[in-house]
Amino acid sequence: MKRAVPEVEQREKMYEGKAKIVYATSRPDLIIQYFKDDATAFNALKRGTIVGKGVVNNRMSAALFQRLERAGVPTHYLAILSDREMLCRRLEIIRIETIVRNIVAGSLAKRTGFEEGTPIREPIVELYYKSDPLGDPMITDDHVRLLGLATPRELGWIRRTALRINRVLRPHMARRGLLLVDFKLEFGRARGRLYLGDEISPDTCRLWDARTRTKLDKDRFRQDLGGVEDAYQEVFRRLVEGAVTRT
Ligand code: UDP
Repeated sequence: MKRAVPEVEQREKMYEGKAKIVYATSRPDLIIQYFKDDATAFNALKRGTIVGKGVVNNRMSAALFQRLERAGVPTHYLAILSDREMLCRRLEIIRIETIVRNIVAGSLAKRTGFEEGTPIREPIVELYYKSDPLGDPMITDDHVRLLGLATPRELGWIRRTALRINRVLRPHMARRGLLLVDFKLEFGRARGRLYLGDEISPDTCRLWDARTRTKLDKDRFRQDLGGVEDAYQEVFRRLVEGAVTRT
């Protein structure tokens, strides 16, 4: 379904994060996300630039948000304004990072001792407290309640929606030769409803080539594997350009 893009003007910078800048607009209920090429890892201990990353993350997020909307998942996405700018609903972000995992990697390999690449039969959901000073610790539902981050009802919705998103994205990516290993989601509130926010990109997902298991995501930067830009462009070709030519 095509929606008319609301007439908006960009206003003051509200927030500058590691990979994005958020601007207010002439509409109090809308914001603009500007995607940068800056990359950080390990709680910003490692910094660098991935040329073209902002464009890839903006366009890939847009394509996937549209795919999810078609599947009935409410997202903050409204429109792409340029290569690096996305118009979004303004959300009150819930300070929880929700991670869904299909294959063991990263911190789950460390936590469990399972080898990276071990399949997970039933996808699992993990919650982390979005806090730079604390280094994003893993938390339980009880901690969410203690910290007042979300109501039990909201958390139930977040867990169900995270798994639903996985059921949409995993086959979508598989059709394009990509294994969706794991990914991070952020949700927020607007006018009493919950929406998926933030981005879905190689910064926030682990994506492996389905045939060769080559890493095509930010792990190339985190682990100094080289070919970082090429990996982002390959994901762009498969998920954005591929998506265009196929529809
Ligand atoms: N992730 C993210 N932001 C974070 C932490 C993790 O986008 O602050 C993503 C990461 O790219 C991966 C998934 O969440 O796709 C799971 O990450 P993990 O817990 O294994 O942490 P990592 O090993 O990446 O530090």
